[in-house]
Amino acid sequence: MDQPVLSLRKIGKTFPGVRALNGVSIDFYKGEVHGIVGENGAGKSTLMKILSGVYTLEEGEIYIDGQKVDIRNPMDSLNLGQSIIFQEFNLIDALSIAENIYLGRLSRKKGKPIDWKQVNAQAKALMREVGYDIDPRMLIRDLSVAQKQMVEIAKALSFNARIIIMDEPSATLTTKEVENLFRIVRSLKEKGVSVIYISHKLEEVFEICDRVSVMRDGNLISTRGIAEVTRRGIIEDMVGRKVEQEYPPREKKPADDAPIVLEARNLKREGVFENISFKLRRGEVLGFAGLVGSGRTEIMRAVFGADKLDAGEVFINGAPVRIKTPDDSIAHHLAFLTEDRKQQGLLLQVSVSRNISLANLGAITRHGFLNFKAERRVAEEYVRTLQVKTPSINQRVIFLSGGNQQKVVLAKWLYTSCDILILDEPTRGIDVGAKAEIYHLINQLVDEGKSIILISSDMPELLAMSDRVMVVYNGRIKGELDGEDITADNVMSMILQKQEEENPCM
Ligand code: ADP
Ligand code: MG
Repeated sequence: MDQPVLSLRKIGKTFPGVRALNGVSIDFYKGEVHGIVGENGAGKSTLMKILSGVYTLEEGEIYIDGQKVDIRNPMDSLNLGQSIIFQEFNLIDALSIAENIYLGRLSRKKGKPIDWKQVNAQAKALMREVGYDIDPRMLIRDLSVAQKQMVEIAKALSFNARIIIMDEPSATLTTKEVENLFRIVRSLKEKGVSVIYISHKLEEVFEICDRVSVMRDGNLISTRGIAEVTRRGIIEDMVGRKVEQEYPPREKKPADDAPIVLEARNLKREGVFENISFKLRRGEVLGFAGLVGSGRTEIMRAVFGADKLDAGEVFINGAPVRIKTPDDSIAHHLAFLTEDRKQQGLLLQVSVSRNISLANLGAITRHGFLNFKAERRVAEEYVRTLQVKTPSINQRVIFLSGGNQQKVVLAKWLYTSCDILILDEPTRGIDVGAKAEIYHLINQLVDEGKSIILISSDMPELLAMSDRVMVVYNGRIKGELDGEDITADNVMSMILQKQEEENPCM
């Protein structure tokens, strides 16, 4: 093969407590679409942030056309012909399409005013190139997600980018919009642009990529031509087996005749999931397995009342309930530890103690006054039993490590005296030691008779911690595994088999 356009050599990155990248080396060639896949937390985004100058390169080397380069900031990266399209986008809502594309480059030459006519005409041409015949004076805030993405791509084109990185570009697009995206990716490829395509969706990788690299736990596991890999092979590389991870065994298993504390029948949310039925027993950990984006979080959000259900029934302790808001759920002793604890679970600028009492302020309020003493007592208690490492209960949560933040979220929900806990990615982004402590807590909770729904993209964790596993794909339940049958192979074959049935031509 020719000389790579871009070579990464032994790239490493360590965050406090997390080795996010560990000696990653990948070559990218001219005009190739190179897929990067891996589970949540594999290090894909971190790698791309290093490439695009968001993080400073600390370990390893980057070569462009065989020349070692220094990328210190996003401008360096752009000047080297690289553009990254982040999931969150980098656009300014209050400005027009044209202004965003040419942001920072609208110079007045010799006191002359900006030639808006020309700027707008160029922006219009670029937008047409990416498939949208649209007025370039429209404001970003009035665009759809797909249109915003195309503005980002148009911007990349305006920089004559030779390498375009797309981080999970299809996550929020409709099927039709994905088709347009692929059309653009193909035309970029024809122009000799190299596209780095990060995705969880293997169907897309098989459709659009020439080669694919799999990452896991900060390591590059494999890079292969798309014709040489199978879906199963990629998934095996993605999932792997973590030998060093310890999962504490549980003393007792839930009895077969343990009462059913939560039951879902035929839940449906239009276009998101349907036909979702499951039963959760007392003292049980019920795992939900699936690829990221399979709809597990959405299902649980709806069960919890954070989103609306279009159809279906929920029963708690055998009685039908109508849960319309998270408050209704809390009243029924349900708790939901969200995936994104930073955004939904915790008030980062607020103290450990207030975060713990937050979901149950009523319990420490008398005649409308908060009993601070009681609040402190409760906090001290939980900090002790959950072994939260914090200098004091007055510490603001933002200063705690990820694992300790997670324990505060757990404390908060335990204080609501919940019986059923939904844990969504409870160990994501926390270090191995804190993970083990969370596993012990899970065991302790079910031993005490609480029931847990566990969503995790960490397959070994999910398999080891669950008594039973529901396999979810594409908003549907594909099967259920119990006891000895809970294996990665079985989970994957349920996903694969049904997937092929549904999409025979893929
Ligand atoms: P991916 O994009 O493959 O899901 P990331 O690159 O986002 O993975 O994350 C890799 C690892 O680094 C994860 O364990 C994640 O929790 C951690 N991580 C990512 N960004 C940060 C950060 N800013 N601070 C601390 N840890 C981080
Ligand atoms: Mg990512």
